[in-house]
Amino acid sequence: MPDIEQKIKLLRKIIREHNHNYYVLDAATISDYDFDILLKELETLEAKYPEYYDPNSPSQRVGGSITKDFITVTHKNRMYSLANSYSKEDLQDWEARVQKGLGIDHVQYTCELKYDGASINLTYKNGQLLTAVTRGDGFQGDDATANVKTIRSIPLVLQNPLFESFEIRGEIILPLKGFNMMNKDRIEDGFEPYSNPRNTASGSLKLQDSAAVAKRPLDCLLYQVVGDSKYETHFNTLKQARKAGFKIPDALKLCNSLDEVYQFIDEWDTKRHRLDYETDGVVIKVNSLAQQEELGYTAKSPRWAIAYKYKTEQAISKLMRIDYQVGRTGAITPVANLQPVQLAGTIVKRASLHNADQIAKLDIRINDTVFVEKGGEIIPKIVGVDKDKRPVDSKPVQYITHCPDCNSLLERKEGDAKHFCPNTYGCPTQNKGRIEHFISRKAMNIDGLGAETVELLYDAGLIQNYADLYDLRAGQIVPLERMAEKSAKNIVAGVRASTSIPFEKVLYALGIRYVGETVAKKLARHFKSIDKLMTVDFETLTAVDEIGDRIAQSIIDFSNDLLNIQLVDRLKSYGLQFEIDESKSTVQSAILQGKKLVISGVFTKFSRNELKQSIEDNGGKVSSSISSKTDYLIAGDKMGPAKRTKAEKLGVPIISEDEYIEMIISKS
Ligand code: AMP
Ligand code: ZN
Repeated sequence: MPDIEQKIKLLRKIIREHNHNYYVLDAATISDYDFDILLKELETLEAKYPEYYDPNSPSQRVGGSITKDFITVTHKNRMYSLANSYSKEDLQDWEARVQKGLGIDHVQYTCELKYDGASINLTYKNGQLLTAVTRGDGFQGDDATANVKTIRSIPLVLQNPLFESFEIRGEIILPLKGFNMMNKDRIEDGFEPYSNPRNTASGSLKLQDSAAVAKRPLDCLLYQVVGDSKYETHFNTLKQARKAGFKIPDALKLCNSLDEVYQFIDEWDTKRHRLDYETDGVVIKVNSLAQQEELGYTAKSPRWAIAYKYKTEQAISKLMRIDYQVGRTGAITPVANLQPVQLAGTIVKRASLHNADQIAKLDIRINDTVFVEKGGEIIPKIVGVDKDKRPVDSKPVQYITHCPDCNSLLERKEGDAKHFCPNTYGCPTQNKGRIEHFISRKAMNIDGLGAETVELLYDAGLIQNYADLYDLRAGQIVPLERMAEKSAKNIVAGVRASTSIPFEKVLYALGIRYVGETVAKKLARHFKSIDKLMTVDFETLTAVDEIGDRIAQSIIDFSNDLLNIQLVDRLKSYGLQFEIDESKSTVQSAILQGKKLVISGVFTKFSRNELKQSIEDNGGKVSSSISSKTDYLIAGDKMGPAKRTKAEKLGVPIISEDEYIEMIISKS
């Protein structure tokens, strides 16, 4: 059926163009909703007519293939390092060598930023992406094609190929916004945050499951086309590459003298802090490809290029004190208190020290003069100590042995980087932390209660654990500071209302270590009730998809603790949901799969929580603010006018509660 084939090809072409507009040019021309419709249409046709399968179809971006062992590939053209320079004198020396090598005294250069990520070599043939290989040792790298294909800004098919076949090189990066978002989720789920964007980007390429890579907001910036001199200069070649669909950053300049190079360097020394990715320098290249060839390579790097490294912005400060914070899981985190100092536009007073090993490694002591740096992470870090300035009587830091809160002897298990307070149910910070987690938005979402109120209630002795919340009476709360009758009643009503929160959220709310939102959902759907979950054995747990040893052991430990058994029994007696209620979730479907919805206002047929639940039951995601990625805004009564204006401006469809119900019923 040739017309079907034509249709599939046309859809692929249109979707490819939209991908390019969105991910490369950063200028979408259709709404996400319309885009999804196109993609769905393509997926449906591809499923129906598998004979037109294409490994480079835009539908393949979601990944799904598993690579157990990455294949080693020898690079056709070696991937060299770059020589470094740190001063204008270094650059003058380099220019002198270039001029001497070429026997001329006027050379044209290009300047680009040095992107800080993982280098990748892409091979294209007949306009199709063939392979993506990591740099490795420069001679050989790993074939990471399946993972790299999920990066939306890398074209799988080129509209106007540069050459029939060619290699192009770039850097796979993790933009800061995406990196910080990933870390926020990790911390909320009780995991250690990733240490920096570069390592996370290169680690992503080594993941076995390409679907997991597809979920990471990776990007790829290209900087070199290898081995053809048709376009004569590096600058022209990059411009052609941009036309062909590759993401070549705008910070690209042609320079006719070293003075112009310096201008670029100075300009970007400040401007780089406004970029959404990390750069640690500028790469200067001889522009003429013929001259590049004439200059050739040293044993390690091209003679025709050099990196200029910015000094990492560093501040000098003094370590005044180390505080030890106790987390809700009992993990101890040391935090350095510094003499306030200006660094990269902000005043820094605290720096994270991670754990005892980090303190020992830095050999950092109280009253030491320390160097502080700021990377992509929000919290700055101490990178070194000026030992010449160390007071003569200084002594190594004695890491605390007892919990700063409850004075229990700390434990450190094998394989753990951190110390833990083992007094799970007697340590006030852990107790409060667990209650705060229990009431939080993604858990029981209890209106009228926040961290401060929990603190107040806990300190007044009214609550010791989350089950106690359900015994609270307004009359007990009113006498407390800053509490009026109305707020007290609100708290009690909010707690009552939470008894209808579905099982998977209750499970997450219990705060079992390593059981984050996604894991809780998975366990709830699999085991269907708390009674089942708390009685299964280790093997049954690890047999569940994505449940590893660590999570399984943590669930077993939780379930064997008498205190937890009692707490859960009490919560049951108050009417909390500890089973999946199959009768309520009749309209479970995947109709909203991959869709992002925002709800606003007051609804008549659903409570806000029920509406959220219904969206999730149908495969959708609820987000709190409208963006160009929002698929629908469900408008209730008294919706804020700002939300409506924003939705209209971004072209987000606005639907009513009834239209929503219509949508899920007619399609499920
Ligand atoms: P190094 O690893 O410090 O020797 O620096 C060489 C690496 O810098 C190359 O392998 C590239 O991956 C990376 N790089 C980042 N940005 C650029 C750029 N604009 N031009 C060339 N190489 C770059
Ligand atoms: Zn403690």
